[in-house]
Amino acid sequence: MVATPIGNLGDLSPRAVQTLANADVIACEDTRRTRKLLSHAGVKPKVLMAVHDFNEASQVRAIVARLDQGRHVALVTDAGTPGISDPGRRMVAAAADAGHEVVVVPGPSAAIAALVASGFPSERFAFEGFLPRKGRDRAERLALIAGERRTTVIYEAPTRLRQTVEDLLEACGPARRVAVARELTKLHEDVWRGSLDDAAERLATTEPRGEHVLVLDAAPEPVAADDTDIERALLARYDAGDDKRAALPAVATELHVPKRRVYEVALRLGDRGLGDRGLGATGDLVDPD
Ligand code: SAM
Repeated sequence: MVATPIGNLGDLSPRAVQTLANADVIACEDTRRTRKLLSHAGVKPKVLMAVHDFNEASQVRAIVARLDQGRHVALVTDAGTPGISDPGRRMVAAAADAGHEVVVVPGPSAAIAALVASGFPSERFAFEGFLPRKGRDRAERLALIAGERRTTVIYEAPTRLRQTVEDLLEACGPARRVAVARELTKLHEDVWRGSLDDAAERLATTEPRGEHVLVLDAAPEPVAADDTDIERALLARYDAGDDKRAALPAVATELHVPKRRVYEVALRLGDRGLGDRGLGATGDLVDPD
């Protein structure tokens, strides 16, 4: 598994060149692209094989067969580290299962470069790769990211960057810090750091071009809700038309407090804020215990 540059050819390591030169087979995503890289490195490939997302499963069998014959196979992708939002993982699993040695020649990865450039805490971080494109999967992932207590690294295509920043703004709020790392290691490398609000405003007026990684700062530590917060949230729910039965669990979830605490505050509040919904069966409180 050989990492290749994410833009700057100078990042191809001498060990990567040596490994590619010694390989009996080089498996790659796009043979034309890899030929260019090899020609830059002065490597003449013996055999090039195309392995991409759509044929990885069948090509894995062909590659394991070569390994069984004692051949050395190097796998590269179009850019960066194989297996990181790129083909490679199935290849490693199949080769290891078949008892072959898997060696990684580490090198560039946009995720690590962007994380380091962001300046956000990197002792622990979450790598999200590309977010689901739409629907419930996307909404659920955004909600998880919004509460994530580690720095989060997200890959995105330029055509979808604006939408993703807007969705993150909606999920995480305007103040969350973000770094937008663009064209890393290339001539027009740029790392912009600011709030999601400012990022969205900036993207509204400039068409994003080139490759981008978003690095989102961790969610702030949640401030524990006190009784006044619970009271305020209950009154807001009543005001919106909820009765006590509906409001109690909703407020507990919203403020991350036990139902018992909301119940006690609701008891003290009595029918305040409920108008005529304070009476009758739907207004009755059920002790959560
Ligand atoms: N395996 C690669 C790696 O290790 O970084 C990632 C491959 S993934 C298909 C491509 C995504 O990586 C792009 O959409 C972009 O989010 C990010 N990317 C790749 N090269 C980049 C660069 N030079 N600058 C910023 N982002 C880059």
